Amino acid sequence: MGIDFQADLKARGAEWRERGLWRELRRLESGVGARVEEGGRAFWNFSSNDYLGLAGHPLVREGAIRAVERFGGGSGASRLLGGTLGVHAELEEALAVFKGTEAALTFGSGYAAAVGTIGALLGREDVMVVDRLVHASVVDAARGCGARLRVFAHNDLGMLEDVLRRERGRGGEVSGGRRRVLVVTESVFSMDGDLAPLASMVELKDRYGAWLMVDEAHGTGVLGARRGGLVEHLGLAGRVEVQMATLGKALGAAGGVICGSRALIEFLINRARSFVFSTAPVPAAAGAALAAVGLVQGPEGAERGRRLWANVDRLGDRLRERWAGLGRPLSPIVPVVLGAEAEAMRVAEALRDRGFLAPGIRYPTVARGRARLRLTVSAAHEWGGIDALVQALGEVGVKAGGGDS
Ligand SMILES: *Cc1c(COP(=O)(O)O)cnc(C)c1O
Repeated sequence: MGIDFQADLKARGAEWRERGLWRELRRLESGVGARVEEGGRAFWNFSSNDYLGLAGHPLVREGAIRAVERFGGGSGASRLLGGTLGVHAELEEALAVFKGTEAALTFGSGYAAAVGTIGALLGREDVMVVDRLVHASVVDAARGCGARLRVFAHNDLGMLEDVLRRERGRGGEVSGGRRRVLVVTESVFSMDGDLAPLASMVELKDRYGAWLMVDEAHGTGVLGARRGGLVEHLGLAGRVEVQMATLGKALGAAGGVICGSRALIEFLINRARSFVFSTAPVPAAAGAALAAVGLVQGPEGAERGRRLWANVDRLGDRLRERWAGLGRPLSPIVPVVLGAEAEAMRVAEALRDRGFLAPGIRYPTVARGRARLRLTVSAAHEWGGIDALVQALGEVGVKAGGGDS
């Protein structure tokens, strides 16, 4: 007799529930935006990564519609077997220009981009060095490729250098050709909203002959004069081996992208399994992303960028009037760390009762005992909504300053 399938699921579900980790889907009746509708009620939405409010933008919608009209609902095959459509190629050309690289390659999602790229670049004999807070897609990629995983404390350059020095001692110098060493970080950290010290990391990886991959899921569309991300902002495009981003956050569409040298992109076309063995993204997603990449770099992107940062500052200022201990936000991601899982869920629920969607984030997304509200600001928010949110946070008894992330 094997294990009873349904009973096993029930028992494991109950255990997850007991630990306060049970999740359920919620269903919006409206499209994503600063105001959304759920169950016949309107909410201020502080849970979206649509930082520039582009997901519902008329030109992004139109980009999707035009691509469907021209290319249809689906792509029909994987990219290598006839699924590469004009809109995919155009999008990749636009993304390479946007990111200041020779070439770009899109994937079905950012998750697939991370797993496919890392899996193609590294094998068992290699080493992957990651910030402790990198995204699950990077962690899963590390597990999958079998490279030795070395973790450094969040944004800790001293510890990163120690690891790189030790790996070089073990024959990890790339020029020696014996062991590849890939450092991976996020530019804007997804659950903490702080920034990686990228300029110093570039110096370090160069000094120790390692490579650097930067996940700009939350930097793209948000940072830089053309809103290309933190790499653009710091002028490092030529010095980062692998730039990764998603098309599903500030770009308001869906998909993942890797930007870098032509040699990197040609290598990935051949070796990234999540690219090779997956149907090409639907024309609608590519068309929407293409429109967004154009928008984000132009005058409208600039205007939305200004509104976004004005809103980030507004929320930061209002929060610090009440909770002096909180720092100034460095990105549209503003965590309010509450500690216990149950407390984060209580506060999120109480905010929902007051008309605000502000997700409680718990293990395994963040460490145990580091549960938090993750507030995300968008260009589409109005100050009235931001002020009302902070008011509501006070009413529901948030004792921030526990927000010492
Ligand atoms: C969302 C996210 C991803 C994955 O991108 P998707 O396109 O949503 O699959 C990767 N890294 C980070 C840091 C993210 O926040």
